[in-house]
Amino acid sequence: MSHEGIRIVSAEQARREDAEHEQMPTGSVTPRKVRVKKTEGTGVEIEWQDGHRSAWSFAWLRNACPCATCHEDREKTGRLPGEAKAKDQTLLKMYEAPVKPLEVTPVGKYALRFKWNDGHESGIYSWAYLRRVCHCESCMAKQGL
Ligand SMILES: [Zn+2]
Ligand SMILES: [Zn+2]
Repeated sequence: MSHEGIRIVSAEQARREDAEHEQMPTGSVTPRKVRVKKTEGTGVEIEWQDGHRSAWSFAWLRNACPCATCHEDREKTGRLPGEAKAKDQTLLKMYEAPVKPLEVTPVGKYALRFKWNDGHESGIYSWAYLRRVCHCESCMAKQGL
């Protein structure tokens, strides 16, 4: 029996996520095509069953890591998923290798798991999560961003 994908969430967070899932028809959280541009080092593109298309850079995905640690860190610093940490804007940035995954593994039929080149690999990116953080123009407009 596998415990992969089990996440401890607060009651408040679980309620919020349930509410968000309710608004999502299956077609919008089921990918038709997933392209992970690992060799190019650019990012991930998903074409959903409802015809919607999403694309994220690897750096954005790393900063949107859904694991509890990264989530808490974002809450604490008031960052949105995908937003870079303040330290990334300092001069140190030039000594850091560009963010990219060393490994990308499917988790069952519902998620992707990235092993990042900074060693982090606890985030499970479910389709529902990815669709929720789609930052195409129309989704951004809906979220008022
Ligand atoms: Zn994380
Ligand atoms: Zn979108």
